[in-house]
Amino acid sequence: MSKKIQAIRGMNDLLPDQSPLWQYFEGQVRALMGRYGYDEIRTPVVEQTALFKRSIGEVTDIVEKEMYTFEDRNGDSLTLRPEGTASCVRAAMQQGLLHNQTQRLWYQGPMFRHERPQKGRYRQFHQVGIETYGLEGPDIDAEVILLSARLWKQLGLDKHVTLELNSLGSIDARAAYRDLLVAYFEQHLDALDEDSQRRLASNPMRILDSKNPAMADVIEGAPKLMDHLDEESRSHFEELTAILDAAGIDYVINPRLVRGLDYYSRTVFEWTTTALGSQGTVCAGGRYDGLVEQLGGKPTPAVGFAMGVERLILLLETLELVPDEARPPLDAYVLGMDAAATRSALLLGEELRGALPGLRAQVHCGGGSFKSQIKKADKSGARLALLIGEEELAENAVTVKFLREDREQQRLSRDTLAEVLPALVDRPLGHA
Ligand code: ATP
Ligand code: MG
Repeated sequence: MSKKIQAIRGMNDLLPDQSPLWQYFEGQVRALMGRYGYDEIRTPVVEQTALFKRSIGEVTDIVEKEMYTFEDRNGDSLTLRPEGTASCVRAAMQQGLLHNQTQRLWYQGPMFRHERPQKGRYRQFHQVGIETYGLEGPDIDAEVILLSARLWKQLGLDKHVTLELNSLGSIDARAAYRDLLVAYFEQHLDALDEDSQRRLASNPMRILDSKNPAMADVIEGAPKLMDHLDEESRSHFEELTAILDAAGIDYVINPRLVRGLDYYSRTVFEWTTTALGSQGTVCAGGRYDGLVEQLGGKPTPAVGFAMGVERLILLLETLELVPDEARPPLDAYVLGMDAAATRSALLLGEELRGALPGLRAQVHCGGGSFKSQIKKADKSGARLALLIGEEELAENAVTVKFLREDREQQRLSRDTLAEVLPALVDRPLGHA
């Protein structure tokens, strides 16, 4: 026998026992986006490599070592998207969505990064994100954060996540601060690890983001960007925090929060949790006013975030916050005793679904003895078994067996079944 082919490491199958949870999460997200007036955008999973190099930045973890890049048959360099923002900007520019208008967009889908797979970190993972364009004030920064906060509330996560905030200032202020930072770290070269020494020339702000405990002290002593903000960025940040205060959203200002992608300016934020070990960031975002222009468009203010779906699903499971409604059981398992009755059972299934749009019913297929069919009915989790045998066929009737309660079975007329079913399963099933 030949060797079985396995999935690619770090790329997961979503199995039937997990998919209801994903659908629950996705349903919550979709409804939320509608409530805030955000429209969905879908872009291809593959883009030209240059898009990501030019937006995310050459000297970032993603571009340096995490991208799935390959040559297609024409010899073009393509990359599986490692994140959604660059694609979204590309699409919005290309399709004229940024011309004299504002946009509030959301997306969801798989992203690809060649990282070391571990809990909460995969090579194919999923993000839900929003991106807004053409709005420069702190009001929209606040809205983006309020929207994410509402999702946590809806999911019951609000007590389990913390909002960390920082401002990176304007691009000019950042450049001036960068010089200060380089000067400081040059005085402490011995305290920097190899990665950071290399970053000193290329991307010194990323040193602040280092997780190396040996560097904690030198990072702690570094000049803080917050203390060197330009006036406009300072008042932008102050208004943002004032709105959050008024809305009752707690936050922690984290001067070391710089984010791993190059395109941010002014507001940056992360929602973190302590319940997932070191993969604790569940949502991250900020303002990226320079990116559209950097990619060849007109200067366009922009702010957005991306959340990691796998981490949020893990969090919901870890905290046991998955409501029972996320996994609704079948209402009815319909079965016929023989071939003729099975035909009738299939038709009954169709009749009932036609009359009761909310009904969840499965019809037994594949034959088998009465005993084995009842076993299947039980295993299906359904509340009721709807049985059709010879007698039922003759009488145009259905026998209702209660699978989850100690209750005498009933024989009911097939014509009135749809009317009484909601009462039998104790929930509304739509029009009858
Ligand atoms: P991290 O510091 O955890 O590597 P990041 O800064 O690279 O995160 P972003 O690019 O900001 O992450 O992506 C936004 C969110 O997407 C993250 O906060 C996280 O929830 C999720 N995410 C990023 N990379 C992965 C991955 N490899 N597997 C699962 N989720 C991920
Ligand atoms: Mg990363």
